[in-house]
Amino acid sequence: MNSSGLQDATKSLLVHLGEDLNRPGLLQTPEKFARLLADRLYAYTQEPPAVTTIDEPGASGEIALEDISFISFCEHHLVPFFGHVNVYYTPKNGRVTGFGTIARVCAHFAAKLQIQERMTAEIGQYLAEHLEPLSLRIECRARHMCMELHGAQKENVGVKTHFLHPQKQD
Ligand SMILES: [Zn+2]
Repeated sequence: MNSSGLQDATKSLLVHLGEDLNRPGLLQTPEKFARLLADRLYAYTQEPPAVTTIDEPGASGEIALEDISFISFCEHHLVPFFGHVNVYYTPKNGRVTGFGTIARVCAHFAAKLQIQERMTAEIGQYLAEHLEPLSLRIECRARHMCMELHGAQKENVGVKTHFLHPQKQD
């Protein structure tokens, strides 16, 4: 990610808004905004976390991780959408991974410009590929700032998306 390019783009944005770049309150803004983008959108510069597994024969039932919080950015409006992901999987032959790993996988796929549907699917596909579970279900519920900024009657709408593995054949 090119920090000086992001800072230049931010300056340009401010000028086009009609702002004065020399106003004291804005002097640090291009640098701060560029750093914020680099922090929040790190998936452009990092690989997804490795999913190391262990075989734990006692782990045969469904494993549920609920309310994993995330913040992502809508690729249409460049403002955040945020909420929670629930991950449910049933290990095959006791193949499990760490809870923290699953949370990091969710965070990774949130850390770029996204739409909620694709983010949910990418988390699911990545976990399905690396865990090869008997079954996997992802639920994601989010609030979209773009929707809320568009006006009345749209605050606090929760959008839910799902991913299922294996996919139902019908
Ligand atoms: Zn949007």
